[in-house]
Formats: sequence, structure tokens, C-alpha cells
Amino acid sequence: MQRATPQDFSRVLSSMCTEPHPDARAAAERFLATNPGDPGTYESVAALEREVVAGLGDLASLDDAAGYVTSGGTEANIQAVRIGRNRAATRDPNFVVPDSAHFSFRKAADVLGVEMRVAPTEDGVADLDGVAELIDDDTVAVVGVAGTTEYGRVDPVPALVDVVEDENPGALVHVDAAWGGFALPFADYAWDFADADIDTMTIDPHKMGQAVVPAGGLLARGPELLDELSIDTPYLESTSQVTLTGTRSGAGVASAAAALDALWPDGYRAQYETATANAEWLFDRLTDMGYPVVEPTLPLVSADLGTERIEALREAGWRLSRTEAGEARFVMQPHVTRETLRSVVADLRRLE
Ligand SMILES: *Cc1c(COP(=O)(O)O)cnc(C)c1O
Repeated sequence: MQRATPQDFSRVLSSMCTEPHPDARAAAERFLATNPGDPGTYESVAALEREVVAGLGDLASLDDAAGYVTSGGTEANIQAVRIGRNRAATRDPNFVVPDSAHFSFRKAADVLGVEMRVAPTEDGVADLDGVAELIDDDTVAVVGVAGTTEYGRVDPVPALVDVVEDENPGALVHVDAAWGGFALPFADYAWDFADADIDTMTIDPHKMGQAVVPAGGLLARGPELLDELSIDTPYLESTSQVTLTGTRSGAGVASAAAALDALWPDGYRAQYETATANAEWLFDRLTDMGYPVVEPTLPLVSADLGTERIEALREAGWRLSRTEAGEARFVMQPHVTRETLRSVVADLRRLE
């Protein structure tokens, strides 16, 4: 086998992951050979997982949080829809998402056999009349996004909860804060368990949380919601399992505990402030250069640079992806510094 080298982060602009915090990296290595899927045997990593869930609960204003560390936002989103489906009586279930929702919900629909209904957005946030129209007696879950993948937008979560109350109070309300969850505590939005009567949330330590991959998070308001996922486990020391995966990464769990320990709240606040200042700086530069730029809310800038310029930047080594509408996405992850941005803007000027 040839010795491969991992992608370095200096020119990575649109990834939602980042370089792990040094403590997270060290913790991951120490816990590499543990399996939180078997908590009866691997007790210390199981204790760390309880710490992570409590820590994520702190971020999202949820006391006595229930939940677990998932393989990522995809698993957490699938599991949330599964909770909604399992606790409902209907045989013809559907769930409602805004059209800004992450593609993982399409996997949830496919895997679970639940119809996905897509509501329109306006200015990148869920159009609540559109959501209301799609909810009926067979709706088992309604999703709001706090930090959309393409534009960093935050749905009006309390108003969304009111709509669900009016249309079908039995439906589960799920907030997908997979990426935004580690920025939102410092931003001025109503998105968490204290702001509204939401049931479940996705919040991923392996994105802005600076944990190693894989470390996603599913939070639930109470243990009875997680019980909807419970499966008997005859050959393990523990008797049941709520996770989608069986054996899973103790490295992810331990790294998330270490990152939270090191960074919550001051480190994450500093990171949020730097990222926000960088997003504003980039917005101003690209606007001055005449490009149509979507104004950032959370620290993510999407700009219509045109296909050729994006291709040219990619040729120059920048790792840049596009929105469905074709804009370049600049995600202000911790590794994206002002110097990085000056350098990509300089390259862009040379292409003019
Ligand atoms: C990244 C992301 C996901 C998917 O998470 P993975 O960890 O890639 O599985 C889901 N929702 C949102 C909003 C995301 O940003």
C-alpha cells in the first residue's frame, strides 16, 4: 500500500468538519479500542457518553437531557423521524421538512418508509403557511433547521412549534442543528429547548464542535422518546439498545467529551466571534467586487462567483463546493482564518 497523506485544511473552504482540538485528538487515540455500543463492558466510555449528552444539553438549554452520540447528523435525523413514526398510530405516516433541509432526511424517508413532504422556504427559512398546509392527521414529525447547510439560515422554531400545535399536536418536532448547534448559543436566535416545546434535536460535535469524526448527537426532551427506539440485545451485558449502529466509535465519544471540556463555553464563544467577523469581512469583500452574495446569518457565506471562477479556484487547490443554485459556499470553520480568506480573495482578483 502506498502511503497516503490526509487532506490538509489550509485550503478547505466548504467542509463542515474541521481539525479536531488537540485534547479531542488525544482522547480519541486513548479510547480507540472501546465500544460504547456495549456499555455494560465498556463502562468508562459509557460514562463519558453521559457527560457528552449532558454537555450538549447545556448548549441546547435542556436539563436532564436524554440522547446519545450518533455516527453523525444523518443517523440522528433518521432516528428522530423513527421516534415520530414509532410512537404514532398511523399506518400511512408522513413527515414535513422545509426545502432547505439536509439530504439526510431523504435517506430517512427511504429507510423508514415514511413519506417526506417538502415545504417551501422564503429568504432561506421555512414558510410556515406552507408547512401548515402539508401537516395532516398522518404527520408523525415536523422538522425545523437551525443552521441550513447551504446558507446558514435559522427557521423560526417557536412559531413552527405553534403551527404544529394547531395542525397536529401529536407530531414530533425535531430541530436539525447538526452544524449550527455550536454557534447558536452565542447568536441571537430562538432555537433551543428553552425557547420552544421541541422534542428532539440533532447537534454534531464533529462539525463546529472540534471533535473527531464520528461524533454526532441526538438529544431528546425525555427518556420515553428514546425508548421508542429500544431493541432487545440478548448477547450483550446491557439488555437493550436505542442506537442505529451496533458497535460504534469510542474515539468519537471520548473526543467529544474532551472538546466540550476544553471549549464550552468560552472557547466556542471566541470561535463564534472570530467566524462571524470573518464571514462579515468576506461578505464585504465579495460584495465590493460585484458578486451577488447571500448575507450571512450564521458564519457561512454563499456567493455567486460563476461556474468558471469556481472551477479555476478548485484548480488552484481550493476545496470549494456549491449550493444547488450554484453559489460557492464558504463555511467559516475554525481552520478558515482571515489569512486564508485574504489569500482566496487575492486569487479571485487575479481571475478578474
Ligand atoms: C452535516 C449536516 C447533516 C448531516 O450530518 P452528517 O454528520 O454528515 O451525517 C444534517 N443536517 C445538517 C443541517 C447538516 O449540516
